[in-house]
Amino acid sequence: MKLEEFVEEVDKLERFYQKEVTEEQRKIWYGELRNLDISRFRYVIGQVYRTFKFLPKLADILEINANLGYSQVKKEANKNNCKRCNGTGYITYKKTIKNGTTDVLYEFGAICSCRQKTRYEGWKITDERYRSNYYTPFAEEVGI
Ligand SMILES: [Zn+2]
Repeated sequence: MKLEEFVEEVDKLERFYQKEVTEEQRKIWYGELRNLDISRFRYVIGQVYRTFKFLPKLADILEINANLGYSQVKKEANKNNCKRCNGTGYITYKKTIKNGTTDVLYEFGAICSCRQKTRYEGWKITDERYRSNYYTPFAEEVGI
């Protein structure tokens, strides 16, 4: 999104929450969020209005974006040409899990070391009904 588009949305956020986002914060936010296209950003901010009583932190906005799925994220965000994950940010791996007496081979996903993707962390979900201990491991954690 363009800087003007971003500024317009942040101004609305400020009015809605009656709280100022400082110039310094704006710079940091824009640095982190500029790869989102404006429709995606507006959608994320719409979720903010519905779920936050107070002006959210950048981390909250990034989390909402991550939890809304990646289908709408602009291709630009996928500029990286990581060979390990082919730019998807995910690596799948198979692991055998004991299910009673039988071993079942499951496929899991891990976050590639290129960090193209933010990992899912179930305990950080805003809506406590959906919180869990589930998270997506980093590739290094599972030894791949
Ligand atoms: Zn990668």
